[in-house]
Amino acid sequence: MLAEPLRSLALSTKGFMPGDEGDALHAAALRAADAVPDAPFVEIGSYCGRSTIWLGDAARTAGTVLFAVDHHRGSEENQAGWEHHDDEVVDPAVGRMDTLPFFRRAIHDAGLEGHVIAVVGLSPLVAAHWSTPAAFVFIDGGHGVEPARADSAGWTPHVALGGTLAIHDVFPDPADGGRPPYDDIYLPAIESGRFRLDTVTGSLRTLVRVA
Ligand code: SAH
Ligand code: MG
Repeated sequence: MLAEPLRSLALSTKGFMPGDEGDALHAAALRAADAVPDAPFVEIGSYCGRSTIWLGDAARTAGTVLFAVDHHRGSEENQAGWEHHDDEVVDPAVGRMDTLPFFRRAIHDAGLEGHVIAVVGLSPLVAAHWSTPAAFVFIDGGHGVEPARADSAGWTPHVALGGTLAIHDVFPDPADGGRPPYDDIYLPAIESGRFRLDTVTGSLRTLVRVA
């Protein structure tokens, strides 16, 4: 569990990570770092840095780093007119979302600038040029079918053997939420035989790479 006062800072940061799921993410990342020493963590989808505080603290504790990948322009579901839109994160000069200043402030306030490396860009593009095996990969980027498939294809191969894949917003029951994280990331990972389910906390699933 993330210690105070950082836990309160995380919970007061704009974002979509509930406290119990953040704590589960933190614990899973610490276990993954034990299983796969000297390997970095990767987060896909940081938004304003809320989940990043949990993972960045785990990286600091484990003596590793977290690469936080986001184009900071928001997912489809974050855009004006959609359910998860917040007008405060729109850059009026550009007329588009820009969560990077919020993210940067949160990581500064958390004292995590030495352990969190922002990678600002398109997740599939970053994945295509990525080659370092990761102890922990957390996928919480775009939740449409195409972004979910791209993140699944692009990032699951980079989880080291014995490392952990975490997926957010996994809803087996369609009544609870959107399908792609479940249909296009979680199920293919399990069905591939490369991952086995480790923990379930709310909509967070952690899977250990076994093959
Ligand atoms: N993990 C965050 C929430 C992430 S919201 C929290 O706990 O609060 C999803 C994020 O994914 C958004 O910030 C959006 O900009 C980013 N995103 C969506 N599609 C992306 C893509 N193709 N490449 C990079 N980032 C993407
Ligand atoms: Mg999420």
